[in-house]
Amino acid sequence: MQKGQACIDKLFINGRIETLDQNQTVCQAIGVSGDRIVTLGSERELRKLAGSGVEMVDLEGGVLFPGLIDSHTHLMIYAYLLDGLDLAPPRVKKINDIVISIKKAVEKHQPGEWIRGSRFVEYSLSENRYPTRYDLDPVSPDNPVILYHTSFHACVLNGVAMSQLGLNKETPAPMGGVIEKDPETGDPTGVLHDAAMNEIAFNRLFVRDLESMTTEARVEMCSQAMTKFAEVGIVAVADALVMPVCLSIYQETLSAGKAKVRVYTMPELTFSDSLIASGVKTGFGNDMLKIGPIKIFVDGGMSNRMAAVKTPYRCKPYGHGLKVMPKDDLIAAVKRIHKHGFQIAVHCQGDAALSDVMDAFEAVLGPKSENRLRHRIEHAGCLYNDLLKRAAAMNIYVSSQPVFFSFLGDGFVEAFGEVTADKLYPFKSMLQAGIRLGGSSDCPVSLHDPRLGLAGAVLRKSSSGRIIGPQERLTMDDALHMFTTGSAWLSFEEKIAGTVEIGKRADFTVFAADPRHIPIEDLPDLAVKMTVLGGECTYRG
Ligand SMILES: [Zn+2]
Repeated sequence: MQKGQACIDKLFINGRIETLDQNQTVCQAIGVSGDRIVTLGSERELRKLAGSGVEMVDLEGGVLFPGLIDSHTHLMIYAYLLDGLDLAPPRVKKINDIVISIKKAVEKHQPGEWIRGSRFVEYSLSENRYPTRYDLDPVSPDNPVILYHTSFHACVLNGVAMSQLGLNKETPAPMGGVIEKDPETGDPTGVLHDAAMNEIAFNRLFVRDLESMTTEARVEMCSQAMTKFAEVGIVAVADALVMPVCLSIYQETLSAGKAKVRVYTMPELTFSDSLIASGVKTGFGNDMLKIGPIKIFVDGGMSNRMAAVKTPYRCKPYGHGLKVMPKDDLIAAVKRIHKHGFQIAVHCQGDAALSDVMDAFEAVLGPKSENRLRHRIEHAGCLYNDLLKRAAAMNIYVSSQPVFFSFLGDGFVEAFGEVTADKLYPFKSMLQAGIRLGGSSDCPVSLHDPRLGLAGAVLRKSSSGRIIGPQERLTMDDALHMFTTGSAWLSFEEKIAGTVEIGKRADFTVFAADPRHIPIEDLPDLAVKMTVLGGECTYRG
């Protein structure tokens, strides 16, 4: 038994405790005091130590793991879209399915009210194209409509939305953005990519809508989304795109006592100046809500084929993707943020953009580094061997999304060809090179359920059944470490999270069985029996 202080106020018993510590220790019971683990051992020993009056938490034969951490998700965007239309395949098969969904939504909305939808995938539609305003306008003459592509790097507006947002023939596309146009008339079709989506539509609508809500409505919206994360066993997330209003909402939710996951926030680059001027640094905050890294976008999305690649895509739109930021600007931004002691998280997918990112990190770290500020790359899809070696030498960390394979994998093969697709997201090579990997979902790009992510890391299987990069498959043990110790490292929390050890937070995910000992195809249905945050149950199955 590992003894700690004896002031135990809660005992977790009647299950198996998989600590995931360095020795892979397994035990029977955990003693908790307040929000921390104070003892580990056998049930008999701990019962004796605890004495009477201690609260017993029955694990009902479940297997307890350190609480799972989603190291890159968009909890606030997910919350914002919760009452919108879900247009994900396989339920949505063709453009008319989308049109019917909008028609039904129009019937439930007042004229003038916005209708939002998300998660459509154009290459999963039988027409293999984006819906446009011309598809949407006949059923939505009086309501503005915005539909987000599953990548969250593209969207479609209907005519009413276009005129409200001032999008017309004359609107120039910003750097790193594309406004799709009708080849005959030159009129915008309503489809916007990357910086064009953000600057013309998303950033404005998201901030405006959140700012116009009452505090009660914002708290309710945020806590509903947090509940959904707790239900699948998540105890903490990094929110990978945070505007000032999001910080307010997180704080309001916490103050109202309704925060069910810990949040490590990634403020967006445009407000880094004010954060730097305020004098705070990464880590500012408390156990529940912290300022994390500054988030920089360097290229477009992977699944809308806008990641900046050296070899052009083999399918529509056949280009090299988009760089959102010129290399000199990126280097200047990295230097400025690094100098002020902030961690940096760079959204980067394509090899052309990753090469810029390596140059930028090298400008502050040199070719070999301990990378004390833990600068990280979000996604790193095309981290081919030469780039991987540079990242490893600088100790750059990666937050990755293994859930992508099942949902988006066939699209990767179409865009990159089979040989190159096998080299995408090289998890095993990264781990072998010593790169620490955080597990994540990028929700709402993919579903937030970590069971799908764990299965994706082990299987790398597309929905049509193709194994993408079989040599890069991980063991379930490695996959569990991605979502625990790996994610904890990326947010500087390895001393208080990621394993079940004395002195660490009492954050647990309890499954009905050990994911390492069941058939992998059963994993998505494995019951989450309990989620525990700081010793308190946030979910009980
Ligand atoms: Zn993201």
